[in-house]
Amino acid sequence: MHEQVLIVEDEQDVVELLRYNLEKENYRVMVALSGEEALEIVQCQMPDVVLLDIMLPQLNGWEVCRILRGGAKGKSVPIIMLTALSSVEARIQGLTLGADDYVSKPFSIRELMLKIRKLIDRQMTLKMIQAKAQEQDTSLKYLVHELKNSMNVIGGFSALGLRKQGTQDYLRTINVAAAHAESLLNDVSLLSRIENQKGSLPMESLDISSIVEEVVDIFRDTAKSRQIEIVLKNKISSLITGNSTAIRQVLMNLLSNAVKYNRYGGRVWITVERMLDGVDISITDEGCGILQDETPKIFNKFYRAVGSEQIKGAGLGLYIVKLLIEAMGGKISAVSGPGVGSTFTVSFQRLKTVLEDPDKNKDKVTHAS
Ligand code: ADP
Repeated sequence: MHEQVLIVEDEQDVVELLRYNLEKENYRVMVALSGEEALEIVQCQMPDVVLLDIMLPQLNGWEVCRILRGGAKGKSVPIIMLTALSSVEARIQGLTLGADDYVSKPFSIRELMLKIRKLIDRQMTLKMIQAKAQEQDTSLKYLVHELKNSMNVIGGFSALGLRKQGTQDYLRTINVAAAHAESLLNDVSLLSRIENQKGSLPMESLDISSIVEEVVDIFRDTAKSRQIEIVLKNKISSLITGNSTAIRQVLMNLLSNAVKYNRYGGRVWITVERMLDGVDISITDEGCGILQDETPKIFNKFYRAVGSEQIKGAGLGLYIVKLLIEAMGGKISAVSGPGVGSTFTVSFQRLKTVLEDPDKNKDKVTHAS
């Protein structure tokens, strides 16, 4: 998209000189021949930079600058003052009113172009920093809100429990809230460790199938409590390049979701498949599924899909999965449909594979490439 420059100038030859040079640099140009016209234009379309002459009929450039800076929209638009007045006082007055820069006529077009570019780039960087800060602020608010809720439940129900007989239900509620708070804090502390590590995970060669089996065992009881069956479809022993702690965490997050978002009595299938250049692990569930346009967003930090509100979560699990997988040079994808279930597939880079068939393939090692 072309950036827009508003020229506020009453001398036609200066306007044409500026227009010619700006259009040559691919800027879109708007022109106001008076201060009043400039204020009308910015009501409809705020430019990326304003080139503002001071000596204008009626409303002068200083007044226009003051009005722009007083409004919500014009508060941050970059303004370069253009003027024949070269005194230090005039320059100081322009800058005091909030102009970003000052150019005296006759000016060097090259210098002016450089100043415009610099201001636009600075503005873009500022906007990016502000957006990031806002995103972090929202995430923090969400986390604080969730932790406060859990603490309220723990506090309130434990107080009730202390006063009443037969407190099993209260204890159960306290237990769920405490587990939620603990899992939130675990996720956040893990996340800060991963983010600070900046992607440098120690890599080793390891057998993926034994980790899969280990993780499945961890979830058997939780799954059983919801009558969910976990089916390990094939047992291919495959050597991959990765970090065992990270892989364990990835599989735990995915399997936890496959159980958590599954229907009561549903099934979870786990498949380990050898591919041309690696190993794919797929985890399929028969749960609520995810709407198509939401699927790419579920890997974003703190994102929770519509309909998940009743199920405890922080929207961090898949973000952590993605960070870990990418740090190991792998990939993750999701295919899902509402009411049908979801399949999450992680692809690891293979080192060597061993087919696990005790009779036929004992000691047989195949190199991947
Ligand atoms: P959490 O489960 O703590 O909310 P995740 O980052 O693990 O966070 O998942 C993000 C969102 O993606 C979830 O809130 C849920 O909406 C959706 N999701 C993840 N896994 C599944 C799944 N297997 N089935 C349906 N929805 C899922």
